[in-house]
Amino acid sequence: MSISLDAAASQCIVRAGLLADGCGSAPRSDAAVLIDEGRITAVDTTAAITAKASPDTQTIDLGDACLAPGLIDGHTHLSLAGDGRLYSEMFSETDEMMVLTGALNLHRHLQAGITTIREHGARNRVGFTLKDGLNRGYIPGPRMQVSGRPITCTGGHFHMCNEVADGEDEIRRSVRRLVHEGADYIKIMASGGGTEGTIPGRASYSEAELHAAVHEAHHLHRVTAAHCRASESMVNAVKAGIDLMEHAEFLEPDGELKFDPELAQMMAECGIWISPTLQAWCRWPQVTQLRRQREQGLAQVDDLATLQSLEKRAEKRLDVMRRMLDYCMKERIVPGTDSGVNDLAFGHLDYDLELLVEVGFTPGEALESATRISAEAIGLADDLGTIEVGKVADLVAFDGDPTRDIGAVSRVVAVFQAGVRVR
Ligand SMILES: [Zn+2]
Repeated sequence: MSISLDAAASQCIVRAGLLADGCGSAPRSDAAVLIDEGRITAVDTTAAITAKASPDTQTIDLGDACLAPGLIDGHTHLSLAGDGRLYSEMFSETDEMMVLTGALNLHRHLQAGITTIREHGARNRVGFTLKDGLNRGYIPGPRMQVSGRPITCTGGHFHMCNEVADGEDEIRRSVRRLVHEGADYIKIMASGGGTEGTIPGRASYSEAELHAAVHEAHHLHRVTAAHCRASESMVNAVKAGIDLMEHAEFLEPDGELKFDPELAQMMAECGIWISPTLQAWCRWPQVTQLRRQREQGLAQVDDLATLQSLEKRAEKRLDVMRRMLDYCMKERIVPGTDSGVNDLAFGHLDYDLELLVEVGFTPGEALESATRISAEAIGLADDLGTIEVGKVADLVAFDGDPTRDIGAVSRVVAVFQAGVRVR
């Protein structure tokens, strides 16, 4: 897949005090990027770039800020508000209201430096409509890959989106229908989840059913992503050849997390991409808010008790993640926010990067997971993910060096899409 740019800006220079190109080397100082028709044509010192550009080229000087590739969030639900309501309440909205919710969410993510997303499943045509609106320029937002509706079993997680399929034949038909409607990739629910009546610790499809989805999707040049909370579903996904595994919680039927070294070994060997959606399990928005309250001396006794139990719960999940890293999977792990569900508001990929650092990534590695590695995982590495000649000029500037202090990712000062400043 490659990105075509229309209405891209003419030549310009973006200069910054630091530049982290996403390729793994230390940030360079006093660097500039020359952009022509939306793509990067040179990266060098400010003096060298100025000498290279034509004299009337506009320069955007970002002062001391650190310039990095635009961030990528591989897991969003644009149609959901992330305002703490239950699924049943959020899905009682009309499709029209879901499209409007999506327009607001696109704006929030873009302002947070997220320039590319995957829309991981909405009801009916809501996801497709949002992508169409974005491509027509009706609404601003990150570039978008859309799955349309997630494929799920009868009564399964997200069955309210209306793409229910049981058995291999129905699953193949669903893949064909979604691709026909415009799906860029296929999302399938391989275990239960937060949807009422489903069991997150149980697989919802067999290996054969998942394989039918993979086979049909690959046949039509689409990759697959599977929602896998249960260990059982993780095994099925690996064996079926799923391209990207969401959540990967090692969840047992009784609701406990139980790390399985043999399964981790299988995941490492098959080279599956893994999106651990840490802020979702760890309830990080709530933890962050309570910690802030505590620092300001505003936390009551009840708040402190809640914080303590949330931190203890989060630690169990983070421990599973740390054990996974023993299997050398850093280069296959990508952050994903799961924004929209529960109280996961849009605009916070920073939480997931913070949590990756918490489990053992360096800040630089966390940044690369959200840029270079994510671009590879979603098949857009030719165009996105690093600041290199030939790439699309999707850029974000932070107040501070995110390769030393991951907190800098929360301090966005400028965002560019194909060379056009959008914040
Ligand atoms: Zn999700």
